[in-house]
Amino acid sequence: MTDLLITNGRVVTQDADRRVIEDGAIAVEDDRIVAVGPTEELAPARDPGRTVDADGGAVIPGLVNPHTHVSDILLRGSFAEDRGLLDWLYNVKRPGALAMDVDEHALAATLYCMEAIQSGVTTFVENDTEVLWDDWSPIEAKLDVYDRSGIRNVYGAGMVDRAADTTFQKLVTDIQAREESVDHPPLDAFVEDTDDVVAEVDALIESYHGTAGGRQSIWPAPVVVETTTNRGFQAAYELAEKHDVMTTAHVAEAEAQEQRSISSIEYLRNVGYLGERALLGHCVQIDQRDVRLLAETGTSVAHNYMANMRLATGFAPVSSMLDTGVTVGLGTDNSILSDTVNPLGDVRAMASGHKGYHLDASVVPAQTAFDMVTVDAAAAIGRQEHLGSLETGKLADIAIVDLDYPHLTPCSDPVFALVHAAQGFEVDTVICDGNVVMEDREITSFEVSVESVLSRATRTAADLVERTGFE
Ligand code: FE
Repeated sequence: MTDLLITNGRVVTQDADRRVIEDGAIAVEDDRIVAVGPTEELAPARDPGRTVDADGGAVIPGLVNPHTHVSDILLRGSFAEDRGLLDWLYNVKRPGALAMDVDEHALAATLYCMEAIQSGVTTFVENDTEVLWDDWSPIEAKLDVYDRSGIRNVYGAGMVDRAADTTFQKLVTDIQAREESVDHPPLDAFVEDTDDVVAEVDALIESYHGTAGGRQSIWPAPVVVETTTNRGFQAAYELAEKHDVMTTAHVAEAEAQEQRSISSIEYLRNVGYLGERALLGHCVQIDQRDVRLLAETGTSVAHNYMANMRLATGFAPVSSMLDTGVTVGLGTDNSILSDTVNPLGDVRAMASGHKGYHLDASVVPAQTAFDMVTVDAAAAIGRQEHLGSLETGKLADIAIVDLDYPHLTPCSDPVFALVHAAQGFEVDTVICDGNVVMEDREITSFEVSVESVLSRATRTAADLVERTGFE
């Protein structure tokens, strides 16, 4: 029996032919899509438990965000515009994140998930870069929230096993001098012995990977090149193989800080971290040889356009990666850098930005851009068999976008409209794993209301900013 039938939508399948089915329908049984086709063919043959009338809206795959951060959402608004990467990282993000207690991490996760759901996201990859491994309670509090959110998450378990060298320490000390009132945590606050952090991540994967009815995943996540040992990268990749997951790291977000005589991509190839289980965030300062290494090894990239613009780290060579066959998904990165966790907002800026940068309107076409938040993002996180398109046999992760707005009218091509005109708030309904988690903009998965979470987040954020010493 069909559990759920979506009717009367413009179904953007994202299948191999990128078909759009006008007046289309999707039938769902349990957690799977069992049929996709014209409403007039599908509807008469089904007796669904529940029908959702898309009413002419775009029916799209639930969006996949392959690179993001969660807890620092409470620091939104405390980021002065003229900070570069290290200034923001060491004067804002780290002090703020370390000042948060367990309840604040859970509140941040709730706020994050509500925004993500309202933006049409059904899967996100969190990079938790500030982990103190002697206490799992902040992690577990967030994983509990993700379970209740109804959407899918990958928790990237941050690994730091190398202290900064003296040159870098001096640089950070100089940068921290800008904010003398901020309570700066020690630079080595997150450094762990390699074997210890590997054992912790191994145990976390054993405990939580595949929980929440399979919606929750755990990956090893070496934070950045300069705070990871060769052995740390090797062990992270081995853990990914052992547990049949992927691993992710920030790479070449600001190559100068990585302080290597060889490129970071070449270094990662040498230590054995490149391959089909690796997803590299950023890859901004890389050259054509690096791009070839990524393609040859089947390594995926999470492009974080808005974060790169906001921190002025540069334009990643995305068109070159795409031309060379590298799988690229679009991430929102820190919500305080893109200011949202809304992929449709970022994809619009990204698609136009690369055209302007290259003085070439043909780079990153609308279909390619939309692929980067759906089918290609799913491939980048190793889930292309189950996520990213609306096809029979895939998991039922679906969003419906209301197209009945002046700024989306006329709409002859829904993919073009979704990339270049939609802003994200038009997402009306979200289904994940066959369950409705938002209908008519009302989030149904959480017991708490959006309004109550917004007011708690506002109060808590103000207190956090004061406690940390931001002005
Ligand atoms: Fe990041």
